[in-house]
Amino acid sequence: MLDFDLNSLVRENVRMLKPYASARDDFKGNKNNMIFLDANENPFENGVNRYPDPQQIDLKSVLAKQRGIQIENILLGNGSDEVLDLIYRAFCEPTIDNVITLPPTYGMYKVLAETNNIINREVLLTNDFQPDVHEILKATDHNTKLLFLCSPNNPTGNSFDNDKVESILNNFNGLLVIDEAYIDFSNQTSWLSKLDRYPNLIITQTLSKAYGLAGIRLGICYASKDIITILNKIKPPYNVNELTQLRALKRILQPGTIKNEISTILKEKKKLMKALLKVNFVNKVYPSDANFIMVEVDNADKRCKEFLAKGFVIRNRSTQPLCKNCLRITIGIPEENNKLIATLKEIK
Ligand SMILES: *Cc1c(COP(=O)(O)O)cnc(C)c1O
Repeated sequence: MLDFDLNSLVRENVRMLKPYASARDDFKGNKNNMIFLDANENPFENGVNRYPDPQQIDLKSVLAKQRGIQIENILLGNGSDEVLDLIYRAFCEPTIDNVITLPPTYGMYKVLAETNNIINREVLLTNDFQPDVHEILKATDHNTKLLFLCSPNNPTGNSFDNDKVESILNNFNGLLVIDEAYIDFSNQTSWLSKLDRYPNLIITQTLSKAYGLAGIRLGICYASKDIITILNKIKPPYNVNELTQLRALKRILQPGTIKNEISTILKEKKKLMKALLKVNFVNKVYPSDANFIMVEVDNADKRCKEFLAKGFVIRNRSTQPLCKNCLRITIGIPEENNKLIATLKEIK
């Protein structure tokens, strides 16, 4: 680490900002036997008549324990999409600062750059879908605040080589955001264990994929306490609603169920890959560390329409660089995958 200085990365207005103090932030004592007349809520109990905990302490406590880190290293958001947006708004000055993204990858990094009016420097992955470290570092300058790595990557499905990621961490003075939305499907270990070593590391995860809770919107950000403090300053006070907090807590306390579902999905993935390899219009089945498979076919538009006519909605990723004629297929439940395999035979 040559020159990392977190304070110099924060936007001036954010550094100066005094966060909004909500009623639930102001009262920090023991809640038992207290009568709450401070937040203009309807006092009649219905389960959700009170504002939710702005710091989601119950949920974070369990997460911290499970992940072996501290509560102060965690920020929760309304999906990782909100978490990513907060990171942009804390560190990137519109029209002045820039970020680096590595297509083909998750589309939200670019959309968030555009909505926040931040310059997005795109550095293509190499032909084997790995970060081009040399080109990436060449593209950075004093105003490069963020660099987004998605590993395992969406839509390609592969994980990035550890030495390449490490090399970026050791040479980039901005913040490296590693999006681990699919980490639970992978054999790779999370970068979470390296949080203490790299002050420029931010890790995002989500309950939307392996945890099966896309509908409740819960995204997780892990970073140094200093970074989390900055993000907390600009976070809307009640960004994670009560129903989400309760449902997420219930689910993360059932690690066995989640593990079983992941293991079924991985078995199904193997089965589906094997079947796809035998299909004559499939040119290539890419390796996958995620819960989806990217395949290159002879004609993506045509095959997508054929799948649709048979009742399967599959993502065409052809418009992404390096992904010409590529489809992304999410692993379903065993019956769905069996139907898909039968349909593959009909189509060919
Ligand atoms: C699906 C996905 C997410 C999840 O976003 P949420 O807002 O948490 O649902 C994040 N990153 C990537 C790369 C994804 O594919």
